[in-house]
Amino acid sequence: MFKGLTGLFLILLCLSLNITNAAEKIRSYEVTGIHPLKMNKIAREFEVVQKLEKGFEVYVLEEDAEKFLKIAPLAKLLNADIHVDESLKEAGKYRKYADVEADLKSMAETYKSLATLETYGKSAQGRNLYALKISTGGENKPKLMVTAATHGDELITTEVLFTLTNELLSNFNKDTRLTKMISTRDIYIIPVVSPDSFEARERYVQRRDPNRAYPWPENPNSKSVDVIDAMMKFADSMKFTGSLDLHAYGRLVMYPWGYTKKAPEAGDVVGFKDLVQAMAKDNQYKAGQISTTIYVAEGSSADYFYWKSGTRAIAAELGREKIPSYSKIPSIVNESREMVWSFLEYFN
Ligand SMILES: [Zn+2]
Repeated sequence: MFKGLTGLFLILLCLSLNITNAAEKIRSYEVTGIHPLKMNKIAREFEVVQKLEKGFEVYVLEEDAEKFLKIAPLAKLLNADIHVDESLKEAGKYRKYADVEADLKSMAETYKSLATLETYGKSAQGRNLYALKISTGGENKPKLMVTAATHGDELITTEVLFTLTNELLSNFNKDTRLTKMISTRDIYIIPVVSPDSFEARERYVQRRDPNRAYPWPENPNSKSVDVIDAMMKFADSMKFTGSLDLHAYGRLVMYPWGYTKKAPEAGDVVGFKDLVQAMAKDNQYKAGQISTTIYVAEGSSADYFYWKSGTRAIAAELGREKIPSYSKIPSIVNESREMVWSFLEYFN
């Protein structure tokens, strides 16, 4: 079937170049699990533009959508207008790395007595890796770290972290709860773990998934990527009491292990469960162990920090999209706020 269709694709692809320049709205659909004869019918009447992992992508003029859906009623709409890629348009409104740097510097400048900007390494493409340390000084306080954008396409995580960090800093000596949160802990904020892929709006960096690139107990010498090497050095030296790695999406809050369905040390499980349940109390995120809540994942940050430093290391999956429309950011901040505050307050 594919051989017969291949020639057809080439012809259709050429045709599509003309058609897609037109002003009409063209929808893109994903067609899967369809009988080859039906697929041939679709290919005769519409533009099959590419073979996907499963099935095919088909372009359909908006006015022909009804006719198309009669042949392929289960086709999934990928894009309502191929001329406008909604998620890319939205991504353009989010911070780029230059904005991240400028905002971090400005926060450190505005809140001089509370915040210090530290550099803990460089990315493969030479970008500085930043941690904003929030502290009122003094010794023996719990050391906590909150990270975002380990995956560079999860733009919402960085925006949420910036908003909450600003709330923390700007409410010092104004709001009793937030003032206590800052003055009894040292908090390290890392709004972008992987700046190269953040700039490219991509999940992978140096062709690797950075949150599968940490060593883990069964693979202690696995090679990593530059930004994760730097993060490991930083975390190894800091020995954080607690860490929270923000991802998107899924509405989940989870503790190690990810690499095995085996539970952590008996003495730690109770604390982990207490912590994630406290964090999920307000937003009702699903709380549990990584491997049994989503899937077995080797080489993630939470496993590494817990394994190497005994850190109470948590991973959270925010909201329902990696790049929600820009106007939705405040609602994701609202559903994340109590979760982050509960995390910080848990350690005292
Ligand atoms: Zn992620």
